[in-house]
Amino acid sequence: MTTHQTACILCSRNCGIQVEAHDGHLTKIRGDTQNPVSQGYICQKPTRLDYYQNNADRLTHPLRRRPDGTFERVTWDEALEDIGKRLLAIREKHGGKAFALCGGGGQANHLGGAFGLSLMLAMRSVYCYTSLAQELTGEFWVNGKLFGRQSCHIEADVERADFVLMIGKNPWQSHGIHNARDTLKDIQKSSTRKMAVIDPRRTETAKIADYHLQVRPGTDAFLLSAMLAILVRDNLVDREFLEKHTLGYDALEKVLREVPISEYVARAGVALEDVERVTQEFAAAERACVRTDLGILHSLHSTLNSYLAWMLFILTGNMGKPGGNNFHSAFLPVIDHSGDGLFNVKTTATGTPAIARHYPPNVLPEEIDNNRPDRVRAVFVQSMNPLLSSADTQAFERAFRKLELLVVVDVAMTETARLAHYVLPAASQFEKWEASGFNMDFPRNGFHLRAPIFPPLGKSLTEAEIYTRLLEKMGEVPRFPLLERVAKLDRQAPSRGLFPLALVSTLAVRPWLARYLVVIVYSTLGRALPEGAAETSFVWLLSHVYAVRYRQAVKRAGLTGTAMALGEAVFQKILGARSGAVLSEHLYEDTWSFVHHKDRKVHVEVSEMLSALQALRSEPTEPEILRTFPFVLMAGERRSYNANTTLRDPAWRKVDPEGCLSIHPDDAEALGLADGDRAICRSARGELTVTVKRSANIPRGVLSLPHGYGIQYAGSEPMGPNVNVLTSSDHRDPIAATPYHKYVPVRLEKCSATMSK
Ligand code: SF4
Repeated sequence: MTTHQTACILCSRNCGIQVEAHDGHLTKIRGDTQNPVSQGYICQKPTRLDYYQNNADRLTHPLRRRPDGTFERVTWDEALEDIGKRLLAIREKHGGKAFALCGGGGQANHLGGAFGLSLMLAMRSVYCYTSLAQELTGEFWVNGKLFGRQSCHIEADVERADFVLMIGKNPWQSHGIHNARDTLKDIQKSSTRKMAVIDPRRTETAKIADYHLQVRPGTDAFLLSAMLAILVRDNLVDREFLEKHTLGYDALEKVLREVPISEYVARAGVALEDVERVTQEFAAAERACVRTDLGILHSLHSTLNSYLAWMLFILTGNMGKPGGNNFHSAFLPVIDHSGDGLFNVKTTATGTPAIARHYPPNVLPEEIDNNRPDRVRAVFVQSMNPLLSSADTQAFERAFRKLELLVVVDVAMTETARLAHYVLPAASQFEKWEASGFNMDFPRNGFHLRAPIFPPLGKSLTEAEIYTRLLEKMGEVPRFPLLERVAKLDRQAPSRGLFPLALVSTLAVRPWLARYLVVIVYSTLGRALPEGAAETSFVWLLSHVYAVRYRQAVKRAGLTGTAMALGEAVFQKILGARSGAVLSEHLYEDTWSFVHHKDRKVHVEVSEMLSALQALRSEPTEPEILRTFPFVLMAGERRSYNANTTLRDPAWRKVDPEGCLSIHPDDAEALGLADGDRAICRSARGELTVTVKRSANIPRGVLSLPHGYGIQYAGSEPMGPNVNVLTSSDHRDPIAATPYHKYVPVRLEKCSATMSK
C-alpha cells in the first residue's frame, strides 16, 4: 500500500486528491488538504476513479484493424512504421490539408497535446479539431474583438462577489468555480451576498439562489439584451468606468435604446419586475460578476449570448476588481489567437476559420465526407471520442469510415477507436507524469504536476513517446547526439548549465526544426531527467516562458531570481510540489495589462454583434420546426454521476444507470407516461429509446437528457442514451460553429408494450 498526491481528472477544477494504491488499484481516495488551490475539497465523483484506472476497455497493445473489422496485436515498430509511411504518402500526394488532428488532451491530460500538435505540423497542417471548439470558441471570438486577442480569457471572482449572476451555469453539478459547493453554500448563508440564476431548469444552484429567472430555452439573447436595455434606461451604467476603460460604447447604447424591453422579457417567459429587480441589484452591488456556461454557449445565439453576458459586467464597471470579472495568467498555452495569418486557414469544404487556433468538430464530418480533391483523408484522434461526445454520431461514423487513415491514441477501446485502422494504447493519467492544466484562478494561480502512481499497463506508452517515435520513423526529427550528451551533464539544473545554449545553437543552425521544439527537448533533456520524468521537459520549457511573461506576479508568489534563474525556480517549485504549487500572485489592477489592444481599452463596439442584436427583432417567435417536433430537448445535462466518457464502466454510477429523460409531470401525463416507462425520442436527425422520469424542475415543453451515456462498454450494446444520435452537426452557431445542444427540437411518444420489453 502506498500513498500518493494526485488530482481528480473528472472536471476542469482538477481538485487535489490523496490516494492509496494497492495491487494496481486506487483503493482509498480523499481530498488533498495540501493542494494549495482546492485545499481538501472534493465532490462525490473521484472516489470512483478506480473505474477509470481498471476497466475491461483498457488498451494494452497496439492494434491493427483487419479487413473484417476485428483487431490484431502488432508491435510498436510495425504500427508506427506503417502509419508513418501512410502519412508521408498522403502528405506527398494531397498536401497538409488532407490531415487533421482531433482532440489532443482532456481534463487534466494535457502534456501529450503538444506532441500531437508536432505531428500536425509535420503533416504541414493547421487543422486541430478540439472539444474547446465544441463549447467555448464563440466566447473566445468575442474576447478577441473586445480585448484584442482570443486568448484573453475572463474568469468570474465568485468567492469575493456581493452579487453573482449565473447564466446557463449550474456549478452545484458542473463545478467550474473554486470549490463549487462550499462557495455556493457561503453565498446562501450570507445575509449580504446574493445570487441570481438564469436557466430554463430549476437546477440545484437555482434552488439555493436568491433569484431564479426561468428563461424559455433559446431566448437568452432576448432576456440579456433586455437586461442591458434596463441598465441604459435606468441610467445604471458606470459612465466613469466606460469613459476610462472602453471604446465605442455610444454605438452599443444606441442599439440598446431600441430594444423593446417588455416584449423581449415576455418572449423569454419571465416576469418583467423580476428581471428589473435582478438587473437593478446587480448594478447596485459594489462587487458583482457574471459566470456563464454551456446553458447559453450551447443554445441559440451562442456567440451573441457571450457578448451580451460580458456587456453586463462591463457596462456596470465590474471588471478589474475583487468580486468582478478578471483575466488570468495561463501556464499551459491551451488558448491562442487566430489572426489573419498562417494559423487562420479556412477549412476547405465549409470555409470555417479557426478561433483561438481551434477548429470545431461540428464541421469535421463535412470536411471528410465530400468529393473535393482537398478533403481531409487522414485523422489522428487523441484522447477524444467524437463518435459519442461530438454532435451527430451518424455523420461522424459515416465520415470516419471513408478515411484513408484513422488512428486513435487513447487509454481505452472507445466507440471511435472501433472504427480506426490503428489503435495506439496510451498510459493512463495515473501511469505517467501529467499536469492539471486548466489553471484559471485570479489573483493567485497554481499548477499541479502529477507523478505516476503505477507503471504503464501492458505495452502502453505516453503520448510524448508515441509521437516522438512516430516522428523519428517519419524522418522528421533526427537524433541530436550532442544535445543528448549535454542534457546528461546538465540534468540536475538545465537552466544554469549548457543545455539552453546548446539548444539555441542547434535551432539557429536548423531553424525549421523549431516546430519540433517540444519533441527535441523531450528526446534529449527529457530522456536524461531522473525518475523517468521525460514529459516534464515540456514543463521546463513552459516554466521559462511563464517566468518571462509574468515576472512580477511570479516574484510575488515568493520565487526569486532573474532571467533564466527565475524560470528555473518555477520549474523546481513545480517539480518539488507533489500537491501542486502557486506560481503567481497578480494584483487586480493587473487586469488591464492583459488587454491586448494598444490603448488597453475594451472595444465594445463589435459590428457583427450589434447587427445580430438588431436582427433579434425580426426573428419569428415560434420556429417552424416546433410544429413537427414540439418539445425542446436540452441535451447534455450534468448530473451526479456523469463525466463525459472518461469513465466507461457503467458500474461507476451509484444512481441513474439509465440516464433518464426528465419531463414535466403534466407533459408526462398528457403522453400517458409514468416513471420508468420507455419512450421514443425523435429528432429530425435520429431516434433514441429512453427511460422517463418526471421532474417538476423542468418546465413544460422541455426535456432533458444527460451526456456521457451510450457507451458500448466491453463491446456491449450502448448503455443509456447517446444524445448525439439526436443532435445534428449543421444545427450550429453561424460564427463559432458550436452546436445548439440545449435546443434540440424533438417528439416523444410512449413505447408500445411489446417494444418496451
Ligand atoms: S469538482 Fe471536479 S475535479 Fe473536483 S472532485 Fe469533483 S469532479 Fe473532481
